[in-house]
Amino acid sequence: MRAMLFTGVGRPLQLTEMPIPEPGPGQLLLKVHACGICRTDLHIIDGELTEPKLPLIPGHQIVGSVVAAGPGGGRFQSGARVGVPWLGSTCGTCHYCQSGRENLCDVPRFTGYQIDGGFAEYTVADSRFCFPIPAGYPDLQAAPLLCAGLIGYRSLVMAGEGPRLGIYGFGAAAHLVTQVARFQGREVYAFTRAGDAAGQEFARRMGARWAGSAEQRPPEELDAAIIFAPAGELVPAALRVVRKGGVVVCGGIHMSEIPAFSYDLLWGERSLRSVANLTRQDGEEFLALAPRIPIQTEATAYPLAAANEALEDLRRGAFCGAAVVVPG
Ligand SMILES: [Zn+2]
Ligand SMILES: [Zn+2]
Repeated sequence: MRAMLFTGVGRPLQLTEMPIPEPGPGQLLLKVHACGICRTDLHIIDGELTEPKLPLIPGHQIVGSVVAAGPGGGRFQSGARVGVPWLGSTCGTCHYCQSGRENLCDVPRFTGYQIDGGFAEYTVADSRFCFPIPAGYPDLQAAPLLCAGLIGYRSLVMAGEGPRLGIYGFGAAAHLVTQVARFQGREVYAFTRAGDAAGQEFARRMGARWAGSAEQRPPEELDAAIIFAPAGELVPAALRVVRKGGVVVCGGIHMSEIPAFSYDLLWGERSLRSVANLTRQDGEEFLALAPRIPIQTEATAYPLAAANEALEDLRRGAFCGAAVVVPG
């Protein structure tokens, strides 16, 4: 099969021919139809996440069809379309796994990080961590639901139920979360980089009531804000625009250093929290909700061999919505 291989920080992914993997116990062999690109892939390639297996096939938003199953991996029928998310396996026995918080497992393994992912024609995955893909969702639209959508959804739940929601960084996760928030009857206020008129226009088209730059004050006080952009200076900026009792949620896996800020910004029972990974329950809830809205994913497709170009386009903010690698 062909795969895009990460061999070390500072090197572009390499198009490589390698054997199709064999499904081990509990695993599925999947033919990859589409694999979404995520900012986390950039954090791995740039060395900000420091524990990848090497060499590594990145990619953790995989839509594929079942080709074969290893012993005990027969949870899905041959040909079924399944999704593989970032959470690749957990220990099942630690304090967190035992208390319904497998997203915080002490010894987790992540797809496209410690386990080979979906920038390839085939992949294997633990069937217990795969989700059925809702019927009728095209592969290209479904792939970004598996991380951008899912972790976005978990961030939205953590933001509470307040009606006025701010979102900092209007990329893949934000455009999906906006649709969920609008479906729930909330107003969305979108913050982009200064001068990003296209991003602000995109946010309004997705249903944001207001869009402006991260330095601006929105026309209303907000109940909560989610920060998807990996920029620490957005934390005090977001605290400044949420009301007393409001919540600021950091939805990314990595962020630049947060500058010191006055306690006044946190005072008034404002809270600040991060969101880490996902649980299988998040996945089941979100993938049941997505077709009811229905969430429309704005996705740009790249051939497998153009994965480096897709990653650089993500870095530059060259597309609106999500990017998806299509091996076929
Ligand atoms: Zn991701
Ligand atoms: Zn665990």
